[in-house]
Amino acid sequence: MAAYSEDDLKADLNARGYRLTPQRQRILEIFRAIPQGKHLSAEDLHNTLTQSGERIGLSTVYRTLHLMVYMGMLRELELAEGHKHYELNRPLRERHHHLVCVYCNKTIEFSENQIDQVGKKQANSAGYYILDCQLTLYGICPECGDGSAS
Ligand SMILES: [Zn+2]
Ligand SMILES: [Zn+2]
Repeated sequence: MAAYSEDDLKADLNARGYRLTPQRQRILEIFRAIPQGKHLSAEDLHNTLTQSGERIGLSTVYRTLHLMVYMGMLRELELAEGHKHYELNRPLRERHHHLVCVYCNKTIEFSENQIDQVGKKQANSAGYYILDCQLTLYGICPECGDGSAS
């Protein structure tokens, strides 16, 4: 899936009977502005929006995020337990996986072609067209460890 241009997005939304409202455009801008490796929860996004003067309810943020995931603009990640995070969807060749510290939630992104290959093989053999492949590893980062591990 190629990166979404503004025009693609508008055409896609229109085809599905949706519009790129200023609010959705604003959300997309926020995701484009965050540095790579950073992920936002719905609450984070809601805070950012309200701090910039946007009047939007948390439930609208949730709905909009779901819609944007469904459309392939955003990627939904289950990083910490029960906490969904979102990031900008990038082309398949730039897919990455996550290594998460269960204590401080520090997240490292990594790419591993073999994981993608395994995922693709599985999906293909079941006749699925693959949209995303995510591996999330949970662990304890060096800062949170007790230092006794060698
Ligand atoms: Zn990521
Ligand atoms: Zn940690």
